[in-house]
Parts: sequence; structure tokens; C-alpha cells
Amino acid sequence: MEPVHIIGGGLAGSEAAWQIAEAGVPVVIHEMRPQRGTEAHKTDGLAELVCSNSFRSDDSESNAVGQLHWEMRRLGSLIMAKGNAHQVPAGGALAVDRDGFSQGVTAALEAHPLVTIDRGEIAGLPPADWDNVVIATGPLTSPALADGIRSLTGEDSLAFFDAIAPIVHFESIDMDTAWFQSRYDKAGPGGTGADYINCPLDRDQYEAFIDALLAAEKTEFKEWEGTPYFDGCLPIEVMAERGRETLRWGPMKPVGLTNKHNPTVKAYAVVQLRQDNALGTLFNMTGFQTKLKYGEQSRIFRLIPGLQNAEFARLGGIHRNTYLNSPKLLDERLRLKADQRLRFAGQITGCEGYVESAATGLLAGRMAAAERLGRDLPLPPATTALGALVNHITGGHIVTIDEGPRSFQPMNINFGLFPHPDQPVTHGPDGKRLKGPAKSLARKQALTARAKVEMESWVSGVEAKAAE
Ligand SMILES: Cc1cc2nc3c(=O)[nH]c(=O)nc-3n(C[C@H](O)[C@H](O)[C@H](O)COP(=O)(O)OP(=O)(O)OC[C@H]3O[C@@H](n4cnc5c(N)ncnc54)[C@H](O)[C@@H]3O)c2cc1C
Repeated sequence: MEPVHIIGGGLAGSEAAWQIAEAGVPVVIHEMRPQRGTEAHKTDGLAELVCSNSFRSDDSESNAVGQLHWEMRRLGSLIMAKGNAHQVPAGGALAVDRDGFSQGVTAALEAHPLVTIDRGEIAGLPPADWDNVVIATGPLTSPALADGIRSLTGEDSLAFFDAIAPIVHFESIDMDTAWFQSRYDKAGPGGTGADYINCPLDRDQYEAFIDALLAAEKTEFKEWEGTPYFDGCLPIEVMAERGRETLRWGPMKPVGLTNKHNPTVKAYAVVQLRQDNALGTLFNMTGFQTKLKYGEQSRIFRLIPGLQNAEFARLGGIHRNTYLNSPKLLDERLRLKADQRLRFAGQITGCEGYVESAATGLLAGRMAAAERLGRDLPLPPATTALGALVNHITGGHIVTIDEGPRSFQPMNINFGLFPHPDQPVTHGPDGKRLKGPAKSLARKQALTARAKVEMESWVSGVEAKAAE
């Protein structure tokens, strides 16, 4: 049987290789280290953790990444097995001894009879006779391969920096203060004329916001991150440094909007949020890409009327990060529409984080193996964490409806990516009406309970098919 080729032996590539080999299909991992390094990796080990040593919360009942851990364990994940084996104490989080973990993953793959590890860079598009390839080269994909990918996808479809504006859970926005309206009620392609959430600031609130921005602590760029400021992506604090009025003429301009809660008073400035996912559970702060420290972001953005209780699905940032405009480029099986022998996995698809990268590797590996074996593999339901994550990457995100930097930005798994619970969660088991944090917890528990049932049913279907 011809092997599946995996380019990149990081979190995603290692997991994909394991899944393919365990399905009985030979696999070759092409890893460029140690022949060629990256700016962040320090060893030649597979699945090296380049920064923190945490896989985040291991709580599978009330945390979305904990639910993803649960599903990956259920699917025989190598990354989770070695994470468990090399765990270090970290409260409710799963943190690992990074060297022991990477050595454990490397040793397991080296020992597998169907895995070959080939050390060397793939410096361009893979050879034409590789018919089943998983590209998992991560945020620091080597330039030669990135150029090859760009030649297939076009200039704008591969980004080298993420410029992330914060994303807010809709439920946490105070709609008694904010209102839905598009500027000048313009419907635009696919819009309704009321597509944005608007948060109004009066003059004092605006001045206080600018003061807070100017005084806030910023994250410095690492030397190797270069100077990524480019058109349309200036961080808001840099705009504020250029002049106190700059934001009011930029992302906070108040024109073409009427506050429906207070129609006779014109807002001095307006922060707009745009729907970010098809479910309508997440909204991004338009034009608010930022390098402020995370704690500062939560504090300062909650000064904005309407966002005083905002819960953030992710905070803003600007990093070196090579990733595809996946909703446009990939089919639902993570294959490049322009060349279906190439499947993508890991952070290059536009997910974010060690666990998410490994999770997409797990699914890409299973898909590649099923294809080689001529088997059908249904997609995991969007109600599971794995399904919700892949659905976001390949189709759940709403592509921007106006000009500016492109809207698809890397995303961690979070409850905003899950479809709403089947029944609204309003009462506890004791029949009492739920409010505040208790209601939010019950909702999360309903989502994870449903995800577990649906994952079990998906696994049974997949196992039954494999046994045929
Ligand atoms: C500096 C930095 C810090 C981060 N910190 C965290 C964090 O603390 N927590 C977190 O959850 N996430 C973090 N991330 C995000 C992300 O989770 C990790 O980058 C994660 O390792 C991504 O997994 P991956 O498998 O997609 O890529 P990687 O793990 O980076 O694996 C890609 C592999 O491909 C190899 N490669 C690249 N190009 C080629 C080529 N042409 N041929 C052959 N091999 C190639 C690389 O050497 C590498 O081994 C960080 C990212 C960066 C860049």
C-alpha cells in the first residue's frame, strides 16, 4: 500500500501519523528539524511545545477544551496519551513535562512498524506522485513551502501574521445599551441592514477610553516577529498614540448610526461588533486588533457601554502565524479545493493552540487513512467539540462583509462554536429558575453532555463501518 505523507512532525503531524498508522496504513513523516530550524523550536523532538507546557483545562463537563480532551482520548489520541503519561501538577489544567512528553511522542512513533520518519525540509509543493498528503507545518511553516502553497491559493489566501480583534460572546453583551444597525442601514451582500452591534460612547466616555488605552501595558514584539503593521491592521493603541481623535475617524466613527435607545442624542464615538460565526453566538470588535496585554484588554474593553459584562471568546493579538483562509480554500474534509491530494491540519488551518492543532491532526489523519482504505468516514457532528472546531474552520465562520483585513482569524475551541442546546437551559434539577453564573454553568454542562452522547454515537458508527 502506498504511504500517506505528512509534512511537519509537530502536534498535528504527530497525531495524524499515529491515527493513520493505527488504521493500518503506512505513513511517512517529513520533519525538517534538526536540518532546518524555526524561530521558536529548540529541539529535534516531534510534538515540541514551543511556549507554555499546558493543554489548559481538563474539565470535560464545563470547559470546551476539556471536552475536546475527552473526545480525543476517546479516539485513541497519542498526544493525549503522552500528555497523561507526562503530566505535572497544575490544578484543574493538564500540564506536561515538555521534554518527557515530546520524547514519549517521538519514541511511540519511531517504534510503530508503519511509521517512517524522514528528516528533511519539503521545500516547495510536494512531489506530484504523492497522492495523499497532510500538510501540518504549523504557524512557522518554512518559507519555501509557504511560497509553494501560495502559488496554488493566491496571494491573499495565506497570511503570515494574525491581527486578531477580540471576540465576544453575544449573550454577555448588554442589548439594553447596544443596538443592531449597519452604518446607513446598508444591507450589502448577504446583509440585512442591521448586521452590526453598536456600542455608544459619549465624549467623557471616549476620552476616558483613550486615556486608558494610552496608559495600558502593551506586549512587545519578539525580535523575530519583525514589524507586522500593515494597511488596515494597525493596533488600536498605535492609532490612539497617533492622535486622540484618530479612532473616532477610524474604527470608532459614529456616522450613519442612530441609537435606538436614545435616538435624539448622537453618540460621540461608536464601537461596532460584527457577527463572527454562522450560529450568531460570537461577535468580533470591528477594527480592534491590539497588542495590549490580556488583563488590560478585558479591563479596558469593559469600559465600553454595552460591554461592561463582556465575556471574551478570545482576546486580541498580533503574532507571526502562517495560516490559510480556510473557509474559502478548504473543503469540509480539510482538503485544498484547488488540489485535493493536499489535506491540511494544525494551526495552519486557522485553529489555535496545542490541543486544537492535535485535534485537527487527529481528524485529518483519520480522513487520510479512510481515503487510502476506500472507506467512507462521516464528519463528526457539529455538536461535538471536534465537529464544532472543524466546522468553524471550513464553514462556520462568516467571511467579512466589508473591506479591511480579512476576517477569518485563528480560534481556540470555545462554547460559542457549539450549536445552541436543544432546549433552552432555564431551570435546575430542583426545578428552580437558574440565573447568572449558575445558568451559564448549566448551559455548558448541557452542551458537553450532548457532545459526549453524539461522539459515542459517531464512534459506534465509524467502528461498525470499519468492521464490515
Ligand atoms: C511562538 C509561539 C508560541 C506559542 N505558544 C503556544 C502556547 O503557549 N500554547 C498553545 O496552546 N499554543 C501556542 N502556540 C500556538 C500553536 O498551538 C503551536 O504553534 C502548535 O505547536 C501548533 O501545532 P502544529 O502541529 O500546527 O505546528 P508545529 O507544532 O509548529 O509543527 C509544525 C512542524 O512542521 C515543521 N516544518 C515546518 N515547515 C516544514 C517543511 N517545509 N518541511 C518539513 N517540516 C516543516 C516544523 O519544524 C514543526 O516541527 C504558539 C505558537 C507560536 C508560534
